[in-house]
Amino acid sequence: MNKAYLWHPFTQMRDYENTDPLIIERGEGIMLFDVQGRAYYDGFSSVWLNVHGHNVPELNEAIADQLGRVAHSTLLGMANIPAIELAAKLAEITPNGLNKTFYSDSGATGVEIAIKMAFQYWSNRGNTRKKTFVTMDQAYHGDTIGAVSVGAIPLYHEVFRPMLFPSHVIPYPYGYRHTGGAPGAKEATLTALRLLLETSGDEIAALIVEPIVQGAGGMIVMPSGCLREMAELCREHDVLLIADEVATGFGRTGAMFACDLEGVTPDLMVVGKGLTGGYLPVAATLATDEVYGAFHADYLERKTFFHGHSYTGNPLGCAVALASLKLLEERNMVQGVIAKESFVRRKLKALEERPHVGEIRQKGLMIGIELVRDKALREPFAWEDRIGVRVAARARELGMLTRPLGNVIVFIPPLASTEDELDVMTDLLTASIVDVTEGQSSA
Ligand SMILES: *Cc1c(COP(=O)(O)O)cnc(C)c1O
Repeated sequence: MNKAYLWHPFTQMRDYENTDPLIIERGEGIMLFDVQGRAYYDGFSSVWLNVHGHNVPELNEAIADQLGRVAHSTLLGMANIPAIELAAKLAEITPNGLNKTFYSDSGATGVEIAIKMAFQYWSNRGNTRKKTFVTMDQAYHGDTIGAVSVGAIPLYHEVFRPMLFPSHVIPYPYGYRHTGGAPGAKEATLTALRLLLETSGDEIAALIVEPIVQGAGGMIVMPSGCLREMAELCREHDVLLIADEVATGFGRTGAMFACDLEGVTPDLMVVGKGLTGGYLPVAATLATDEVYGAFHADYLERKTFFHGHSYTGNPLGCAVALASLKLLEERNMVQGVIAKESFVRRKLKALEERPHVGEIRQKGLMIGIELVRDKALREPFAWEDRIGVRVAARARELGMLTRPLGNVIVFIPPLASTEDELDVMTDLLTASIVDVTEGQSSA
């Protein structure tokens, strides 16, 4: 049935048809169980979403409780209680100055909203020259057409190029692959941005960035100070800053938001993924009062933001998001991530010595391990080697789920994982990498 009727995202279905399909039946804590009853650690938080684990009583109750009132009512010109309360909560926990929440249902739609808002912001202010966007090499902002237009991963995005709007691309500071290391990479990014803003700043609406960690591009961690300097350059040149915190938000990097790590307040911020604890599809685009103000006008001026989705502000989703944020606070989980971060760092230390482990990158509980064919030369494995896919397959055999990004092995455990669980998961991760890259595996 699965193979007959489902078309899976980001999946070559011909390959998939020849695999032993994994069909999940239930979850408990950080474990997932398949229809055969086999247990797996959720080593990638079900694609970077999960915060508190699965089947969490408090979250289940929040949904059931709301379900007993109303499952959905629209936000077009009316409101519902969880949507209001969540917006107030987001204003409280996001960087100072972000006070207005616009809901949607995925990271991609949240990004679409941010870029449309940035574009219309300038137009509403009477500036019709500022129309383009700056993005960063290997950026991923979701899969709808606007989000793909500010995306820069050739494997995913190139085929659609003819239907996209063009964006400026500056390098993301990728120290491991820069001749000058992290300092050189940071300098190259800032120089490229400065130059671009000096020559073309007057036609640029906004810069969009994955703050501190570039996720799908390979878990690339920015050198410190880079984000803050980028934000300052934007401010100097009157260019809006859009922070895509879809992957990094809600404690993942060891701060509530990655922007907090450098005291940056963006003009627009997109959140999704972990917002509902990984339970339901709710995303939000937050705007400063300044951005909001440019839309606040006489009806006849046509400055309204004409955008919305059927399920914008869904009460069930907002209710579970509120419950998730409550647990995050009550259990002091963002603080907890910092302790877990150093535990995992110590555990993975030995892996650095292995012959095919090029670099281990980590911020909070967001970890990417870049595998290389030749360590001294930093020579990548060929794409055709599917090294990441093979390591993930081995991990599954050993009882842990993850999904690679090319040659980068992803380890993004739920924030609620205990040290004991992290201990087992890092052992499984190590074993999968060693088995596959050092040749003791059938995978
Ligand atoms: C996952 C992701 C998105 C897209 O979110 P969806 O909910 O899958 O549409 C956007 N930006 C970043 C940084 C992401 O990691």
